[in-house]
Amino acid sequence: MSHHRSPGGHERSAVLEEAVERASVRAVSTHRLPPPPSALRGRIVVAAVAVGAFAAAGAGQTLTSGNGDSSNEVTPLANAQDNAAALGVGGNAPSAPQILPVSKATDGSFEAQKLAKSQQITEQREAAEAEAKRPKFVRPAAGAFTSGYGGRWGTTHYGIDIAGPIGTPILSAADGVVIEAGPASGFGLWVRVEHSDGTVTVYGHVDTFNVREGQRVRAGEQIARMGNRGFSTGPHLHFEVWLAGGQKINPLPWLNERGVSL
Ligand SMILES: [Zn+2]
Repeated sequence: MSHHRSPGGHERSAVLEEAVERASVRAVSTHRLPPPPSALRGRIVVAAVAVGAFAAAGAGQTLTSGNGDSSNEVTPLANAQDNAAALGVGGNAPSAPQILPVSKATDGSFEAQKLAKSQQITEQREAAEAEAKRPKFVRPAAGAFTSGYGGRWGTTHYGIDIAGPIGTPILSAADGVVIEAGPASGFGLWVRVEHSDGTVTVYGHVDTFNVREGQRVRAGEQIARMGNRGFSTGPHLHFEVWLAGGQKINPLPWLNERGVSL
């Protein structure tokens, strides 16, 4: 079974189309000025559609009230010009209030835009200066340097130890992204941060951490607190530096080369 448009519906839409066409001719013909800019033309189309709806109502559809004695009753075709004027397409300045305020508002907002722009430039410059000044590498914790990298107790100590009270803030040594924050064998809890060149810094035996995997951190930002978890003989931070290939290097010269001394 094929799909047919009902003849009645087709008739109605033909009537409506004709009404819209007549109304738009009316709306445009009331206009004594040269052709309007395209934005205004859009309004005329909207107005024409609105007027067309009235015209369609006038052509016998049920939009008007039945009693016919009300002065408020819509008499569409006679009012078409007024309707167009109310919608701002009449070309008559007093009845087109949308147009004049727009140019005034543009002047005011232009000044506001210039001010906002200069404020934005100042803020950007200040941010760039602050960015240039801030340290890119920091000491990962305050405290006593108690153990270096290398052979110790017949094994290799792959990091350095900084001792201090439990709860001492532990800071990310450089900008980076947290790649792990949680339990690790021997370390109790650790946090690992990967830096832009692929280097990873490791913070072990922490008591608590306040970052999660995937979080971006900056040099000096607190990531954890010093603890005594895992294989640890007293509260301290165990700090390691892994090169991009995974090699664990001595953190002390790595820090020194970056302006940080312990
Ligand atoms: Zn250690």
